[in-house]
Amino acid sequence: MRVELLDQEQPDRTGEEEIKRGVLFTTLEKMLNWARSSSLWPATFGLACCAIEMMATAASRFDLARFGAEVFRASPRQADLMIVSGRVSKKMAPVLRRIYDQMPEPKWVIAMGACASCGGIFNDYAIVQGVDKIVPVDVYVPGCPPRPEQLIHGIMLLQQKIAKERHRPEDLVHLPWRRQGA
Ligand code: SF4
Repeated sequence: MRVELLDQEQPDRTGEEEIKRGVLFTTLEKMLNWARSSSLWPATFGLACCAIEMMATAASRFDLARFGAEVFRASPRQADLMIVSGRVSKKMAPVLRRIYDQMPEPKWVIAMGACASCGGIFNDYAIVQGVDKIVPVDVYVPGCPPRPEQLIHGIMLLQQKIAKERHRPEDLVHLPWRRQGA
């Protein structure tokens, strides 16, 4: 779909003239991806030492707001990003999965740190050896713990991934504002 803003009073303007005046051409898909990648809302959810670095990422020194992802939500129903920051114990695994299931679609997951990615140094009976055994992971951030710059890099990689997402035509047709106008 093409979004066009045309001057109704002067319909004889050429396309080139319109572009010079600041007319925007894009696709609905690109606009959706841009909006979603530029306003990620992470769930307020930390598991271990990596969570301290995650909190620092949102604070003033590193200022995650520069990347539009600083609005940590207290309810999973308002979040579209889960940052698994810390080791996942087997006791915690079903809780983590429930939080993930309560997040609305579309949603994404970042495994932050060695423990979340693969169990880290905890190769034992109590720790899940990688959170991707419980939820699908989009980006893995290495480190023990990763520095805030690394988490920001992971979020930027996720933004690039979202920007390339493809949508089925039927998904675009069923967007809420299109249903109203249909
Ligand atoms: S990766 Fe390191 S800092 Fe992060 S939760 Fe594991 S032990 Fe803690």
